[in-house]
Amino acid sequence: MLTTAPRGTRDILPEEAAKWQYVEEVIRDCCRLYGYGEIRPPLFEHTELFQRSVGEATDIVEKEMYTFIDRGGRSITLRPEATASTVRAYLEHNLHAGPQPVKLYYMGPMFRYDRPQAGRYRQFSQFGVEAIGAQDPSVDAEVITLVLDLCTRLGLKDLVVELNSIGCPKCRQEYRQALLEYLSEHKNKLCKTCLSRIERNPLRVLDCKEEGCRALTAAAPQMLEYLCSECAEHFKTLQQCLHAVGAKYELNPALVRGLDYYTKTVFEVTWSGLGAQTAICGGGRYDGLVQECGGPPTPGVGFAMGLDRLLIALEQMGISIPTVNKPTVYVAALTNADNKDAFALLTILRRAGIAADKDYRQASLRAQLKAANRSGAKWTVIVGGEEKKRGAVVIRDMETGEQTEVPQDQLVSILKSS
Ligand code: ATP
Ligand code: MG
Repeated sequence: MLTTAPRGTRDILPEEAAKWQYVEEVIRDCCRLYGYGEIRPPLFEHTELFQRSVGEATDIVEKEMYTFIDRGGRSITLRPEATASTVRAYLEHNLHAGPQPVKLYYMGPMFRYDRPQAGRYRQFSQFGVEAIGAQDPSVDAEVITLVLDLCTRLGLKDLVVELNSIGCPKCRQEYRQALLEYLSEHKNKLCKTCLSRIERNPLRVLDCKEEGCRALTAAAPQMLEYLCSECAEHFKTLQQCLHAVGAKYELNPALVRGLDYYTKTVFEVTWSGLGAQTAICGGGRYDGLVQECGGPPTPGVGFAMGLDRLLIALEQMGISIPTVNKPTVYVAALTNADNKDAFALLTILRRAGIAADKDYRQASLRAQLKAANRSGAKWTVIVGGEEKKRGAVVIRDMETGEQTEVPQDQLVSILKSS
């Protein structure tokens, strides 16, 4: 137990972390281009925030939250998602008083008591954006386009954007009734969880992953046929915006998303290569959420992308990621007595902005050169001997084995110019 991480968690070691850093950089750059500023909310919140915003009859609130009582007797939950926190922060800092929409993005760990398997963990990372305070369907189009541009820049291919509208509380009421009637007629085919949920939230059944429920929902009434004129108009304009930028999508009338707060637009980005866990990203519009959290009526739209699954997809598509874990220069000491000078030179190089490393075993020159080779360094600089007395060092080109003597005070500029 002491030597294994808790179930559903894992360590990301340097080689893999370098890939994460690359992806995170591309994400940050996309957000900059699209005008989203970073928010870093806390990793835990009052439990009530998630109960209120994510919704009582959801998988997350019913069975996936890490909730505990802290030493002050408060119920605290490790965040299972970050939209709730973003909306809470929007209200706490009066962001509704400034220009709208407020466009924010976040990146970081989320916690859910999920059943661990490939692409599904108990601690995983999400990148998400939220545009709070605008009704305009072009904002919905903007967040979808952001995802697509990000995926294009990362080289991801064959992703599918699935799109649907689940209407507003007004038109959904009528649909809910029709769906409830349909489901009630087929109660015997529902799974246990859905059976207990249909009265509270029949739409959840559309999102169930059980085989029987899936078969049932395929023939269920569809929300798109129940949209009110405002929701239908919004959905039409969104699609026109997507056409205008050449964004491809597929309509999926069964798509509802697992959180209670969505209204109108819902979408998911999937990749079939991920096996059972096909969803890389999910999002939509949540026009009732800010009010639900105690604020003024305020529209909003956003998405959350699972970075663990994104990285799995990159790996499986064979997309190579530029990583830079190698030192440029390896510093070797000719003898043990030169070790101190080797360390000093190493530090000079690092302070001059050159990635450098050395051997720490007080080993022979031969062993140090072997280690230099293994490190992938382009050059080895050897400190000691007659050269040292002359204020010089030897540079060895690790590819050709060619060695040249250079004055130590010119080393940095020589390395930088070659
Ligand atoms: P799923 O249906 O796969 O459980 P979800 O609907 O619960 O997904 P969202 O709440 O929409 O997921 O979260 C957005 C994204 O976060 C998902 O599309 C997925 O890529 C990622 N994600 C969600 N749960 C996990 C998890 N346990 N491990 C890894 N990634 C996850
Ligand atoms: Mg889930």
